[in-house]
Amino acid sequence: MILEQELARLGEKILEKQRLTPEEGLFLYTDAPLPWLKNKAVEVREKRHANEAYYNRNIHFEPTNLCVYACKFCAFYRPPKSSEADGAWDYSFEDLQKKLESYPVGSLTEIHVTGGVHPDRGVEYGEALCRFIKSIRPELHLKAFTAVEISYFAKKSHVDLKEALQRLKQAGLDSIPGGGAEIFDPEIRKVIAGGKAPAHTWLEVHERAHELGLFSNATMLYGHVENYGQRIDHMLRLRDVQDRTGGFKSFIPLRYRNESNALSRLPEVGPEEDLRNYAVARLFLDNIPHLKAYWAMLGLALATEALDYGVDDLDGTVDDTTRIYSMAGGPAHPTASVEFLQNAIRSKGRIPLERDSQYRKLNFS
Ligand code: SF4
Repeated sequence: MILEQELARLGEKILEKQRLTPEEGLFLYTDAPLPWLKNKAVEVREKRHANEAYYNRNIHFEPTNLCVYACKFCAFYRPPKSSEADGAWDYSFEDLQKKLESYPVGSLTEIHVTGGVHPDRGVEYGEALCRFIKSIRPELHLKAFTAVEISYFAKKSHVDLKEALQRLKQAGLDSIPGGGAEIFDPEIRKVIAGGKAPAHTWLEVHERAHELGLFSNATMLYGHVENYGQRIDHMLRLRDVQDRTGGFKSFIPLRYRNESNALSRLPEVGPEEDLRNYAVARLFLDNIPHLKAYWAMLGLALATEALDYGVDDLDGTVDDTTRIYSMAGGPAHPTASVEFLQNAIRSKGRIPLERDSQYRKLNFS
């Protein structure tokens, strides 16, 4: 009875678009039945996005997996002195050019660039890469470099974050991806990602970027050693920045995958937990417009299911250009045709819309 009363009270609050407190967010994780969460998350996403769901046409480029850090959850990185035989790579600009030239003009709208944090690369490298991409494919939206990479660029080049971001923007950077956020709680971050940019630096990179007119995205890595309170804390910090800047376009929960990393003893959470997490995110994180189920991490079937739990974006065609999740247990060769994504969205009774990187609608198919 008390549970029913509390659900009714929260249901009213959600209906009236009142913001949930951290305690109420926690209650959603611990006590709210999944069907109730599903129902409320759909109600909220339909107010924002009606019956529409998004996809885009994109590729990834991961310049290197050599990395000065050694995050325990990461199956992708190799220590800086590793060789090809160890599974390391370090692509040249010519490699990138060949890749880009294999896609006809008009077949893509976005390139997503993230990778390991190479010990020798500062902001000059980031600028050169941005200029190179824009010189051969000026029409593509360039979403590049996590806040962790950008903070390392700044440190390496002895400039502050604002200057690093300004220079990258001048060189052609259009927006920033959401990676590197993991979990902001300092104790958990120390355990799983010790050494790399702390939470306040990650948030500062994004806030400075928003001030410079660059928009960005935000992830949350869940299902490892964090608890629900730490997930709420993570979203609360994002909600606070978003209140000030409005610069986050999408929130992207990422399930911890447990292959080939230093935490492999941990089991992965199951689909019910993924769906609960999407629904709570849709209800608690009320000021970031888009909620993405990144199918290259989750698999297309479960990402499609998440469209019934508050999600409005499945991400893009990808075309087997990312190894971050395939090396950790995600789909082995993540590729989806436009038709495949459209059909996945239609299978949930929703209208598929191609978007650009700012979520402007590109067609009405
Ligand atoms: S998550 Fe990023 S920063 Fe951490 S080890 Fe992997 S590549 Fe390096």
